[in-house]
Amino acid sequence: MGGFFGVASKSDCIFDLFFGVDYHSHLGTKRGGMAVYSPELGFNRQIHNIENSPFRTKFEKEVLTMKGNFGIGCISDTEPQPLIVRSHHGTFAITTVGKINNIDKIVDKIFIKNHSHFLETSSGINATELIAALINQKDNLIEGIRYAQKVIDGSITMLLMNEKGIYAARDRFGRTPLVVGKKEDSCCVAFEEFSYLNLGYSDLKELGPGEIDIITPDGAKMLAAPGDKLRICSFLWVYYGYPSSKYEGQAVEKVRYNCGKHIAMRDNVKPDIVAGVPDSGIGHAIGYSNESHIPYARPFVKYTPTWPRSFMPTIQEKRNLIAKMKLIPIRQIIEGKNILLIDDSIVRGTQMRETTEYLYSAGAKDVHVRSACPPILYACKYLNFSRSTSDMDLIARRVIAKREGTDSLEIVKEYLDPDSVKYNEMVEEIRAQLNFTTLRYNRIDDLIESIGIDECKICTYCFNGKE
Ligand code: SF4
Repeated sequence: MGGFFGVASKSDCIFDLFFGVDYHSHLGTKRGGMAVYSPELGFNRQIHNIENSPFRTKFEKEVLTMKGNFGIGCISDTEPQPLIVRSHHGTFAITTVGKINNIDKIVDKIFIKNHSHFLETSSGINATELIAALINQKDNLIEGIRYAQKVIDGSITMLLMNEKGIYAARDRFGRTPLVVGKKEDSCCVAFEEFSYLNLGYSDLKELGPGEIDIITPDGAKMLAAPGDKLRICSFLWVYYGYPSSKYEGQAVEKVRYNCGKHIAMRDNVKPDIVAGVPDSGIGHAIGYSNESHIPYARPFVKYTPTWPRSFMPTIQEKRNLIAKMKLIPIRQIIEGKNILLIDDSIVRGTQMRETTEYLYSAGAKDVHVRSACPPILYACKYLNFSRSTSDMDLIARRVIAKREGTDSLEIVKEYLDPDSVKYNEMVEEIRAQLNFTTLRYNRIDDLIESIGIDECKICTYCFNGKE
């Protein structure tokens, strides 16, 4: 997914920038970057690989050496960024969050045709560079940003910094959030609203879908008005967002309690304890436990003091082992117990199966699994959703394809209704494959009610294919 943070200040902004970006570390694992600008020193930028050690460790030196009044930084799950670009708009730094499905088409149609070129990297064309190049196709920055928003298929939210301030532009349909905070002599802009609270900022505004503002130390000025169609990602509340996050005024932790509550209200099993898969499953489990009055417990805990992302070998086999080694079972809580385990979602099913096996091997009698969101039937085409890239990665789709002997999208629609026979047979097949005692998913209507905003403002494409 990825996230970003920017600051415009009357004094040096590096302290706020460093911690503001660091508070987005839950959104990505590949690259971290910061770019600053000051009238005296111009632009300066640094990017580090954060796959093996976190942003904060990697940027220890830069927080002492970089200086500037304006700054933008990111945690990227994909390409290295921010980039610094020189064009007829002058010099600017840019960072983006989103996904572009039509990169090849754009490059062929708009750039190759005009005898321009792009550098191919081992992971393809840098999407942020492509956005900058699209912006440079137009006479001014606002027209350029609007143009980029229009031609890309997918989603894009961006920060662009020049000597005037930080241009903040939210995705055309607001798939990802963009919020502005204010304190004396500084203004900041972030993906995650909670990222600036401990830095002394308070909420100033949330940008609407497609809105473009310029952020200066004095505040945010709207340069292009928002559109009327919002489709914010529902997965932000279920999985991506940190528990302290809030989107469209709705707190992640509260939404997770609501999801757990709804699952409990429809459930009929009587487990001894309710548990959540750390970290995002915990809020859902608390909600279930509060509603059902079945005690919440932690059959395993994460060993957090030294493990986060340290020493991750590149061999997949070892990575899986190390991912498991972070979880330590507490046998006295598990042995002989009938456990209800909630996770945010079941994507491929492999992780949940491993977790369940782990509980059985530690002495659990039964493991009932609950998913806080409905079966995922369509791979996300709007964000770089790290857990699945194609429909056939999804266990629900694989089960349907096996049952029906076809992967036809028309057939998939027959599995959407949670009251239908086909839906229930699909769930039973997944349960049997993954060796759970019982399996239930949250319903889409309950998920929408849990989020608490108008259904037409939420993206639920991965659950029901609705664009
Ligand atoms: S398809 Fe799913 S993960 Fe992607 S933006 Fe929509 S709700 Fe979020």
